[in-house]
Amino acid sequence: MPGCPAHPDNLSETILYLLYQVAGRAPMIPLDGHLRPQWLFGSTVHEGCNRAGYYEQGESAETYDSPKCLVKLGCGGRW
Ligand code: SF4
Repeated sequence: MPGCPAHPDNLSETILYLLYQVAGRAPMIPLDGHLRPQWLFGSTVHEGCNRAGYYEQGESAETYDSPKCLVKLGCGGRW
C-alpha cells in the first residue's frame, strides 16, 4: 500500500471495532466525510503539535534539529 504506514494502535482499534460490529455488539462504525473512523481523524496533528506556537509566529525550522515548525521541511500535519 502506498503512503505512510498505519499506526498499529489505530489499525488494531479499527479491526477490533469491526469485529464487534460484525458480531452485532457495536453500532455502525462512525465515519467522517472521507469514510475514515471519526475518532481517529477528528483533529489534525497540527492542532495538537507542540510546535504550533512557532507556526503562528511564522518561524519555520531550516533543519530537523530545530524546535521550530517543520512546515517548510515538508510537514503535512495541517491536512
Ligand atoms: S506544520 Fe507541522 S510542525 Fe508545524 S505546527 Fe503544524 S504539525 Fe507542527
